[in-house]
Amino acid sequence: MKNRIVLIPCGCILTMNDKGDVLRNTTIVSEEGKIKALLPNSEARTAYPDAEIVDASNKVVIPGLVNVHMHSNLTRGFGDNMALYAWHEAIAETVGMETSPEEMQMGALISYLEAVKSGTTTMLSMEKYSAYCYEAAKASGARVRIVPYVLDFDDCVDKVELNLEYVEKTLDPSLRTRFIFGFDSFREAGPDLIRQVVELSNKYDIMMQTHSCESVDDVTLCLELHGCEPTKYLHKLGALNKNMILAHGVHLTEEEKQLVTQTGARIAHCPTSNMKLSDGAAPVKEYMDRGILVGIGTDGANSNNNYDMLEEIKFAALLPRISTKKADDLTAETVLRMATIEGAKVLGMDDIIGSVEVGKCTDLCILDMRNLHCLPYDLDEPGILMSHIVYSCNGSDVDSVIVDGEVLVKNHTLTRFDEESVFAAANILSKNLTQRLKKRGVNM
Ligand SMILES: [Zn+2]
Repeated sequence: MKNRIVLIPCGCILTMNDKGDVLRNTTIVSEEGKIKALLPNSEARTAYPDAEIVDASNKVVIPGLVNVHMHSNLTRGFGDNMALYAWHEAIAETVGMETSPEEMQMGALISYLEAVKSGTTTMLSMEKYSAYCYEAAKASGARVRIVPYVLDFDDCVDKVELNLEYVEKTLDPSLRTRFIFGFDSFREAGPDLIRQVVELSNKYDIMMQTHSCESVDDVTLCLELHGCEPTKYLHKLGALNKNMILAHGVHLTEEEKQLVTQTGARIAHCPTSNMKLSDGAAPVKEYMDRGILVGIGTDGANSNNNYDMLEEIKFAALLPRISTKKADDLTAETVLRMATIEGAKVLGMDDIIGSVEVGKCTDLCILDMRNLHCLPYDLDEPGILMSHIVYSCNGSDVDSVIVDGEVLVKNHTLTRFDEESVFAAANILSKNLTQRLKKRGVNM
């Protein structure tokens, strides 16, 4: 727990630091939620005889996973066979209109808990009724950066004024859950609103997120409306800078790639959602070769359909092989770094999270890989372990999850909640919402 010393003796730590160090039989010493030291297992217990122990001595420890783009959902299973724009109109907008604030809060809670249970410790989530989602995020214990769904419609509940109010309430950097700025996309936000959000992001030096160049339809519509492509349009409005995280960025022109590179804007790559909505494959390796920071996101459960980052990194590694026909485009190590330290850089949080290093927050994902699908299991083979994590594992292999030194998942079990009770309560609301959606004509 926070304010106490916790010792985490580890079998193998894949630190994800700059050198890619792998540490065997090393104990993470956590004090007040921060990594105070990394000591040989044999020394740590002697140095701290009274400390609480979280035993990972037969397990593999990686930094907590970082999801750089998601949305919470209380329902899923609709519109499985639709392209982005049809899906957005028929599913996303209707679900958004029908969901009440209380349902959204429950949706956020189950989404954050699902993410935590599968190894994610930090997530950026774009939310409607964001004040309710904030309460869910605090309850979950996860490190959440909330982007309100700021739109240019009269009935928009998360107006830019509220976004500012929430940001100002959560400026304290020690808070696990904080608000950042954002707007949905050029489709729903006019130029004045976009300029306003950018101005606030610049003034407070706080990150912002929007969707851009997600599909060919997205590009076509922006050309029709504004005479240029979405990311170029954002640049014209001054919205591309080091605080901007572009969700998707699948279809960028050469000029847009140069603009993103020059301005330091970042990209949230969402491979499952891009495949499911038939958007296409973002040239991720090319982006990274140009020096663009790229992290990985799951997107929402309505287009994924889960928040399992261990599944997501497998798709991230495999998707480009279809378009580039290159088997070594993104290696297991590259996608694992994208889901940890690179994701932290995308969020501007790499000074506190993203790698197992002294001085950083004790945010950890502990994997129990003593399973048939992880053979051979040899803690002296970090290359094979990394391959297993990316290609063989999924979220159910996560044994324990720690945020700020607090154990949120222990032995595959949530510590702050009784999962059966949460499931039962959420399922009542989810089934009720689903019936209402069906009455409104929302179908598979
Ligand atoms: Zn999205």
